[in-house]
Amino acid sequence: MITDTRRTHLGRQEFLQASAECLQQEWREWHHIKSCPVFFNVTNFHLYNAAHGFRQGDLCLQHIEDILQEVFRGRPIMHLGSDNFAVLADAADVQVRIDTACQRVLTFIGNPNIALKAGIRFLTGLPSTKDLNVAFDSEAKIACDTIKKDASRHWAVYTEELGLRHQTQNYVREHLDQAMAKGYIRVYLQPVVRTLTGRLVSAEALARWESPQYGTISPGIFIPVLEEAHLIHKLDTYILRAVAKIMRRILDEQMPPFPISVNLSRLDFLLQDPFSVAETIREEYRLPLGLIQIEVTENALVDKMNSVLNGIQKFQQKGYPVLLDDFGSGYSSLNVLKDYDFDTIKFDMKFLHPFTEKSRKILKALVSMAKDLSVHTLAEGAETKEQCDFLRKIGCEKIQGYYYGKPVPFDDFQ
Ligand code: C2E
Ligand code: MG
Ligand code: MG
Repeated sequence: MITDTRRTHLGRQEFLQASAECLQQEWREWHHIKSCPVFFNVTNFHLYNAAHGFRQGDLCLQHIEDILQEVFRGRPIMHLGSDNFAVLADAADVQVRIDTACQRVLTFIGNPNIALKAGIRFLTGLPSTKDLNVAFDSEAKIACDTIKKDASRHWAVYTEELGLRHQTQNYVREHLDQAMAKGYIRVYLQPVVRTLTGRLVSAEALARWESPQYGTISPGIFIPVLEEAHLIHKLDTYILRAVAKIMRRILDEQMPPFPISVNLSRLDFLLQDPFSVAETIREEYRLPLGLIQIEVTENALVDKMNSVLNGIQKFQQKGYPVLLDDFGSGYSSLNVLKDYDFDTIKFDMKFLHPFTEKSRKILKALVSMAKDLSVHTLAEGAETKEQCDFLRKIGCEKIQGYYYGKPVPFDDFQ
C-alpha cells in the first residue's frame, strides 16, 4: 500500500517559466545550452490501475514524481497529467539519471510491462517559448513513443529524422481520402517470371503514394500507419479497384491477360469482408475468376483468427488463387501450410540476402517441401543472375525481383 505524500507541484505555466529562465541563464553565462527537455511516460499504466484501483494508481504516480524529484533534484519537474512527466534535465548526465529513475520505478512496480520511459530533446540554441513547448510536448514525446514496446531501453533521443517520420505519419493518417480522390496513390506492377523461360507469368500490385508535400512515401511507412489507424481496408479496396480497372483494360484491348495479385493485410479481414468487396468489384468490371490473386503474409495467419481463416477460405472456395507472402520472414509456422491450401508460397527475399551457402540449403529444402505439398514456388527479391541460376537449378518455379523488373506503373509495365 502506498501512502499519500502529496507536495506542492509546479503548474504548467510555472514549469515552463522556470525552464525558460534556466535556459536563458545558461545562454547568458556560457552562450551554450546545458539543459535538455525530457518527456516521461509510464507504458501500460492502465494495467496498474486495473490491478490496484485508481486511488493506488494516483499514489503510484505521485511516488514516481517523488523518484523524479530525487533523481533530478533542483531541476524543473512537472506532472503533465495522466502518466506523463516533464523534466528540464542537465544534459551532461541525463541518460544516467534517466536509467536510475527508470530502474527505481521498475523495482517499485515490479512488472516489466509497466515501465517508465523517457524521450530526450537535446537543444542546440535558446528556444522561443513556442519551441520550448514543442520540445517537451511533441519532440521529446515522439522520441519516447519510439521505445514504448522495447523492454531493453529506458530512453531515446529525438532526431530530425524521427520528426520527419512523425510528420509523414500524421500526414498519411489525415490525407488518405484526399490522396485516393486525387490519384496520389498509384498502383505499380512488378513482374513475376517463370524461372525456366524468363517469361511473364503474373504481376504483383504494389501501392505507391506520390505526395505533393513529401514526395514518394514508401509502403514501409504508410502501410503500418494505415494499419494502426484501422484505415488499411480503404487503401486495399482502392488498390483492388485499380487492379480491376487495369485488368478490364487488358481484356478490352485484347492484350494477353496475366493474373495480378493484391496484398491484403490481416486487419482487412477484421475491418470488412474482403471477399465480398473483391466479388463486388470483380462483377462490376466483369472479370473472370483467376485473374485477381490474393496475397496474405504468413504473420497474418499464425494466430488463427477466425475472421482471417474464414475469409481466406471463402476466396479459395470461389477459386481465387491465394499466395502465402513473405514466407520465412517472421514467426514462420509450418502449420500455416497444413491449415490452408495455398496456390503459391512466396519465399521472403531475406533468403537471398545475404546469399549464403546456408540460405541456399534452406531454400532448396523449402522448394522440395513445397513440391511435396503440391504448392507452387516463387522466390522474391532476386537481383542477380547468379541467384536466378540457382533458383532454376533447385526447381523454384517463379521469380520476382529487380533482376527481371522493379515495380513500375502499368503504362511502363506494358
Ligand atoms: P511484399 O508484398 O512482400 O512486396 C514485395 C516488396 O519487395 C516490394 O516492396 C518490392 O518493391 C520489393 N522487391 C521486389 N523485388 C525486389 C528486389 O529484387 N530487391 C529488393 N530490395 N526489393 C524488392 P514495396 O513495394 O516497398 O512493398 C513493401 C511491402 O508493403 C509489401 O511487401 C507489402 O507487404 C506492403 N504493401 C505494398 N502495397 C500494399 C497494398 O496495396 N496493400 C497492403 N496491405 N500492403 C501493401
Ligand atoms: Mg506481396
Ligand atoms: Mg513479399
